[in-house]
Amino acid sequence: MMFADLHLHTQFSDGTYSPEEMVSQARLHGLGALALTDHDTVEGCPRAAAACESAGIEFIPGTELTAEQDGNELHILGYLIDIQNPRLLSEIGKFQHVRQNRIREMVARLNEMKVPLRVAAVFELANCRAPGRPHVARALVQAGLCSSLDEAFERFLKKNRPAFVPKFKMSAAVAIELIHQAGGLAVMAHPGLNRTDQVIPGMVEAGLDGIECFHTKHSATTSEHYLEIAERFRLLVTGGSDCHGLSKGRPLIGTVKLPYERVEKLKTRAEERKAAAALSH
Ligand code: AMP
Ligand code: ZN
Ligand code: FE
Ligand code: FE
Repeated sequence: MMFADLHLHTQFSDGTYSPEEMVSQARLHGLGALALTDHDTVEGCPRAAAACESAGIEFIPGTELTAEQDGNELHILGYLIDIQNPRLLSEIGKFQHVRQNRIREMVARLNEMKVPLRVAAVFELANCRAPGRPHVARALVQAGLCSSLDEAFERFLKKNRPAFVPKFKMSAAVAIELIHQAGGLAVMAHPGLNRTDQVIPGMVEAGLDGIECFHTKHSATTSEHYLEIAERFRLLVTGGSDCHGLSKGRPLIGTVKLPYERVEKLKTRAEERKAAAALSH
């Protein structure tokens, strides 16, 4: 039996592993396939693909787009996307730019509060195009301005705290279309964390292909619930650990093992979509 993990983060967003470290962990856990799904970027995919190739693991290019529907923040996973698709790259480029400006704004607010964090320190530490609050938190700890990441979030970075800056998000429909035009499949991430089932019909209407039924933070009951929803709306079923390396306690890779037949169904659907698109052109 072969297993996959379709939800993993690296240093190219808010994880701590390099793509190579992530792949060697996947190998230790005996995974046969994996998808890299860094937030709002595909920057780590070429290195992850090369490392998977050497390790004999099947690589699925992916991303996790930050989106919203009816005022709710949603994460949309894109799988089997063409990571060189020009529109995908230019759209996520805009979001990366927004993320970088947001870091500047967060640091400016900290400085107003006489917390002397340097914006360059955050960018040096993040060293990626899609930096976020975890990088600000790590920089605060590194500079000795907070004693832990938790303290950084509690005092400054959580929603409703003084250095919190909201993130600009694309609509779920735009995210789904962006993934489709890049040849990929759009999957709703960890629905059990959002608990906003009312948005699902609208997303199905917008072309949603699948739903992440298996996730580290889903109980068995939650997974069952979303398996039923998948059946009702004829959605593909995916799963992953959402491992961020060492940044959120213990590494989660290996805790969710998706049977490989689910990956095969994803690949078949992507092929069907491409064949249909070729016919209509
Ligand atoms: P961002 O995308 O920049 O808003 O950052 C979101 C990320 O911050 C999440 O994926 C978590 O990794 C992290 N995060 C959010 N809230 C907390 C918290 N209270 N403590 C630690 N990490 C957090
Ligand atoms: Zn994350
Ligand atoms: Fe997420
Ligand atoms: Fe994630």
